[in-house]
Amino acid sequence: MTLRPLNIDPNKCFIGGAWVNALGGGTLDLMNPSDGSVLCKIARGDAVDIDRAVGAAGAALAGEWGQATASERGRVLAKIGRLVLENIDELATLESMDVGKPLTQARADVVALARYMEFYGGAADKVHGETIPYLDGYTVYTLREPHGVTGHIIPWNYPMQIIGRSVGAALAMGNTGVLKPAEEACLTALAFAEIARQAGLPDGALNVVPGLGAEAGSALTKHPRVRHISFTGSVGVGKLIQEVAAAHVVPVTLELGGKSPQLVFDDADVDAALPFLVNAGIQNAGQTCSASSRILVHRSRFDEVVMKMAAKYRDLRAGPALDDHHIGPLVSMRQKEIVDEFIAKGHDLEIAARGEIIDGAPSGGAYVTPTLFADVDPGHTLAQDEIFGPVQVVIPFDDEAEAVAIANGTDFGLVASVWSQDGARQMRLAKQLRAGQVFLNNYGAGGGVELPFGGTGLSGHGREKGFEALYGFSTLKTVAAYHG
Ligand code: NAD
Repeated sequence: MTLRPLNIDPNKCFIGGAWVNALGGGTLDLMNPSDGSVLCKIARGDAVDIDRAVGAAGAALAGEWGQATASERGRVLAKIGRLVLENIDELATLESMDVGKPLTQARADVVALARYMEFYGGAADKVHGETIPYLDGYTVYTLREPHGVTGHIIPWNYPMQIIGRSVGAALAMGNTGVLKPAEEACLTALAFAEIARQAGLPDGALNVVPGLGAEAGSALTKHPRVRHISFTGSVGVGKLIQEVAAAHVVPVTLELGGKSPQLVFDDADVDAALPFLVNAGIQNAGQTCSASSRILVHRSRFDEVVMKMAAKYRDLRAGPALDDHHIGPLVSMRQKEIVDEFIAKGHDLEIAARGEIIDGAPSGGAYVTPTLFADVDPGHTLAQDEIFGPVQVVIPFDDEAEAVAIANGTDFGLVASVWSQDGARQMRLAKQLRAGQVFLNNYGAGGGVELPFGGTGLSGHGREKGFEALYGFSTLKTVAAYHG
């Protein structure tokens, strides 16, 4: 398979500006989740390949990329953004086939990737230091400097968007990077590297080493020359990475998912809320860190909300990704099994509605029937654990205090939203909800290139997106000059 029109071989690593074989010589099968066939072989990079990639990234730091001015870096990123858009059909098709994402959603992800490049291209020369009034005879100022070689370990659910927010911000600040995409979906990471090369990103500034988490991922985390690690994925691996990084005292940004609630009050405009209530749960088949998997509803509106959400669920269809149904397959059979097991754990609950897997969907595809559970106890597994599938629970509450207690009653804290016309309540809850982002009368699953994003609790720490990411991908130096 060749990734046309980029003409790259997916069975390679991208190191030092060149397409090279993984030195171990191993390959992995990349599965097509829509039918269970093998899409292509990808490189199985290991510690040796990671070491080469880190070496190339170190050389780029001492070379062209390290010496580029902030505006030169910005210009390259902006050009990458333009080339991303020029290749929208190719990139969307790759992401759709690889992740199992409906084509329309994959196209939106390409646009988001281009937006990240535009945003961070424009922001590269707008991160300024400060002057600080100090003692008589002194001038004190601060400098924002890159960490150096940064490691980016990303998951399979939104490869392009996560490359945009993580690699884009790191490069804007003058870092170089090694990207380890997920073994389940890495084609757009490879395509992105080729686009960046064509846009003039100097050799070694970005390197991509596909492979297994326990091999390439682990080697990247452990490498002593990597000075910052950004990780998006599961809580278990996030903890491991933080532990390993501690050995080198390296900062980590962890984005580990959530159990994000939307709170619907008695005075809410339910019809305006409805598309957000459902879409935020089923977008990308629910495999979204900021998916809204819990819908908390004031008891006076409970039956109405359940009835209206159920009507939408009955219309949901899951089918092959390129055919662009509401929902594609999950990324893998393993992920399907996890989600089906969760649904089975709801055997004692009321199923308000289910969608359908289309007739004729390939039997080897990782399809899950979208399922809405009503009247779920907040302590139930389905209301506590991240499911990462097209499954939502609706939970009733009687007053504001109870709504906040339920909303804050999981170990996660990523996103929350409040649906209410009461301005004072909106302000109170924006403060009281434990989340990195709070939306008032809207919900933004994964949206908003400009909006700082990240979690509290088991959702992780550190912020990506917006200008905040640029502070995270740089270190602050204070210069104190005595001149008398
Ligand atoms: P994962 O955490 O195992 O994988 C994410 C990335 O980490 C991949 O690139 C993987 O290769 C890498 N990795 C795995 N082990 C590693 C190690 N020891 N050292 C360094 N890197 C390593 O996630 P998963 O198994 O693909 O998914 C499992 C669950 O994680 C999902 O069901 C979901 O709940 C959650 N998840 C969350 C997000 C998110 O956006 N926050 C994304 C994907 C998965």
